[in-house]
Amino acid sequence: MTITRTAVVTGAARGIGAVVARRLADDGFPVAVLDLDEGVCKPVVDQIEAAGGRALAVGVDVADEEAVAAAVERVAAELGEPTVLVNNAGIIRDNLLFKMTVADWDAVMNVHLRGSFLMSRAVQGYMTKAGFGRIVNLSSTSALGNRGQVNYAAAKAGLQGFTKTLALELGKFGVTANAIAPGFIESEMTAATAERMGIPFEDFKAGAAQQIPVARTGTPADVAHAVSFFVSEGAGFVSGQVLYVAGGPKA
Ligand code: NAD
Repeated sequence: MTITRTAVVTGAARGIGAVVARRLADDGFPVAVLDLDEGVCKPVVDQIEAAGGRALAVGVDVADEEAVAAAVERVAAELGEPTVLVNNAGIIRDNLLFKMTVADWDAVMNVHLRGSFLMSRAVQGYMTKAGFGRIVNLSSTSALGNRGQVNYAAAKAGLQGFTKTLALELGKFGVTANAIAPGFIESEMTAATAERMGIPFEDFKAGAAQQIPVARTGTPADVAHAVSFFVSEGAGFVSGQVLYVAGGPKA
């Protein structure tokens, strides 16, 4: 008998999250596509349905406790009880320490850390009940330190500790938790960074590629491939790990 596992991907309206959502749908999961606004999730849902999959668009701010609870309940009722969660929603508010505002510090902590905590807490009951669960958190090579990203680096390093602790607490229920730490991935987020720096995106990518051993920048599909592995049935003995998807051994 094949068991249908329902997946939730946050920040899935665009970028890495959208590609992860489509990949998991291709892998056979019904996928809840979560992002700030339900309308912006619709194109991803339409693409999944056009390819023969099942998906649901849900608008939610992952940092909002009540909204998260309502969103997860809706997924359970309309798509299926979620046993796969990809905490992908993210923002950057870069600045050097001496110029960083408390608002920019808090905004980044809230989306990445509070958001991943709230989402994980909201779905874990379905996972433990099913005796199966897969949580994947999006960290970053910035966790190792990145100039101008004191808030983001702290949040992404924090997610690694969060992941390892989830692995310890939930392992006995058949739930694994792992983190993926991408390097430079082509997305709206990195395009916005290039724009802010006044560099054409193609030049920005070419410059980054020179520092990467495989001599290219990453794509959302590179990350989705790693997610696909971590959430697979066969990856049940892999937990608490941080996988750097960065084209080489170092950030
Ligand atoms: P992106 O900006 O293209 O997409 C992020 C998505 O998250 C957006 O659709 C946005 O609306 C959504 N989002 C933001 N705040 C939210 C909230 N409070 N609630 C719900 N949704 C919210 O970014 P991306 O490049 O696709 O990055 C995805 C993840 O991967 C992020 O966690 C990011 O930090 C991480 N990451 C990206 C790179 C990269 O090079 N692009 C590298 C390492 C890690």
